[in-house]
Amino acid sequence: MPANVHYTLAPYCGRCISRDAFRRGSWCGCGSVFYCCSECLTRHSPVHRPMCRPFSPKEVWGIKIIQNWNDPPRIGHPADYFRHELCRVDPGRSTTHPIFERGELCPLTQRIGIPLRIYCTSVMRESSTAGPNEIAVKLRVDPSNGLAPARWRLTDHPGECIVIREDRKPLTMELLETIYSFVVHFMDYPIDDVEQESWAQWDGLLNPSVWHFFARKYYQKQSEESGRNAFHYFSPLLCT
Ligand SMILES: [Zn+2]
Ligand SMILES: [Zn+2]
Repeated sequence: MPANVHYTLAPYCGRCISRDAFRRGSWCGCGSVFYCCSECLTRHSPVHRPMCRPFSPKEVWGIKIIQNWNDPPRIGHPADYFRHELCRVDPGRSTTHPIFERGELCPLTQRIGIPLRIYCTSVMRESSTAGPNEIAVKLRVDPSNGLAPARWRLTDHPGECIVIREDRKPLTMELLETIYSFVVHFMDYPIDDVEQESWAQWDGLLNPSVWHFFARKYYQKQSEESGRNAFHYFSPLLCT
């Protein structure tokens, strides 16, 4: 085990989540992820490679969400708007990414057991609008009423945002896309007419069990039906 290993990651395989191969497996050279066998290491490469670098407790992998339009046909695959982003945390130092101190928790994602923290310069500093970001606004939705807070929603133009996992595990594009699709799935319910009542119907569905069910189906659809390679190597079981 390398000295710089990421102890907060459970010692199971980063691809197949096998827990019983700890003795015969090996750590990736970066020391941040463990694999049960060389096949898992190789096959997980499309997901892990963009984030493969020596683990540092002062760095957290997040996703930058670049501007996207409030118009589903123009959004296409949400992952088209995702970029890997390394956020540095060094309390008290100027190099600390503002997301750690001023980012906001996404309450809806807390309900499904994967709390995300989001940061947007224009929203947190209440500066001028920067451009549309429908994906970020939806991630920031409040489960109590199905709406993002007014400061996010009124402009609808937060511009570029950064998202990390509150538990500081690496956030993959595949996981973020699945969470966003989960939110959209429920937002498709007719909430405009009788907002509160309709929202209440699915408010009760925001829990880890429903999320896991959705994530498994989404994973199968992306990897088997759509043949998306990265999803073939992404296990929803790793979303916990
Ligand atoms: Zn494995
Ligand atoms: Zn690595």
